[in-house]
Amino acid sequence: MVSLEKKRAQILEGRFVADQIKQEVAADVARLLTSHGIKPRLAAVLVGDDDASAVYVRNKVRACAEVGIESDQRRLPATTTTDELLALVRDLNQNKEVDGILVQLPLPRQIDEAAIIEAVDPAKDVDGFHPSNVGLLAMGQARFVPCTPAGIIELLDRNQIEIAGANACVVGRSQIVGRPVASLLLQRDATVTICHSRTRDLSDVTRRADILVAAIGRPAFIRGNYIKPGAVLIDVGVNKITDPNETDSLFGDEAERRIEAIEKRGYTLIGDVHPAEADAVAGWRTPVPGGVGLLTVAMLMKNTLQAAKWRRNL
Ligand code: NAP
Repeated sequence: MVSLEKKRAQILEGRFVADQIKQEVAADVARLLTSHGIKPRLAAVLVGDDDASAVYVRNKVRACAEVGIESDQRRLPATTTTDELLALVRDLNQNKEVDGILVQLPLPRQIDEAAIIEAVDPAKDVDGFHPSNVGLLAMGQARFVPCTPAGIIELLDRNQIEIAGANACVVGRSQIVGRPVASLLLQRDATVTICHSRTRDLSDVTRRADILVAAIGRPAFIRGNYIKPGAVLIDVGVNKITDPNETDSLFGDEAERRIEAIEKRGYTLIGDVHPAEADAVAGWRTPVPGGVGLLTVAMLMKNTLQAAKWRRNL
């Protein structure tokens, strides 16, 4: 066992890479305006009153303003029906001013999520969830790549972490994160294993990974014994911790700051990786917050810019 004093994983900050990407997008958006008089526009649809979804949409709208992309926020009540939301999506599909459409998930129970995802014009599908974009990605001919997986690849690339030949393990097989990130890692010549809730001897599998992506949705699930010494950990999970007594064992010397957060907001965020134990074993890890989430927003900006260009054959 490696002692905490001797070793500490390096932190893969999301902010630095996310800012870099946003600056590149902002420069390209400015060029598009000067040379073609075009300002990309994102329509962000939020249905219901889920607090986390409202925060995510607010962050996306704020990022649009940062990079010079126009945004429309459309808020619909929690009682919205599938037909009502379909009508809005069709309206946005037709709207020539709109380049990208984002429908924040999850949707209220009564709405047929698959029908909504299929209704979005694939050319405006900046989340990359439409079946035709999913198919193109699976074929290695990606058009829009879902933002979180795309951000993970950017984070690895821009930190010079070699993907080709690495043993990569993805825990989680969702359409939004697990499957697409596994697909991207495979296309970049990693040897990829996908794990899920029925995987046997999970820690034996994850411990072989040079690059371990955790997209599970369970706080601190990936413990020290799941991690290969020196591995790169990409922590996608976003979970809440509300008990200040748990902070010491989870966050180590960050515990005090986390207790302050709990006292102030009632919770602190934690990923799917146990941060204190990971620090003692891993080579690199993304923090939560401040890791993958920031990349997700930056990649949405990049996809929206791309949509504006592709729609005009630029
Ligand atoms: P999801 O759709 O709930 O999928 C979770 C996956 O984890 C499933 O494939 C599930 O396996 C697997 N799983 C659950 N328990 C497991 C266990 N005990 N052992 C092994 N695998 C297990 O989740 P998601 O949408 O991918 O999101 C995952 C997490 O990432 C959530 O915390 C979410 O909030 C977060 N997230 C963050 C961002 C970001 O930008 N930072 C973006 C998207 C999501 P089965 O398929 O067998 O059920």
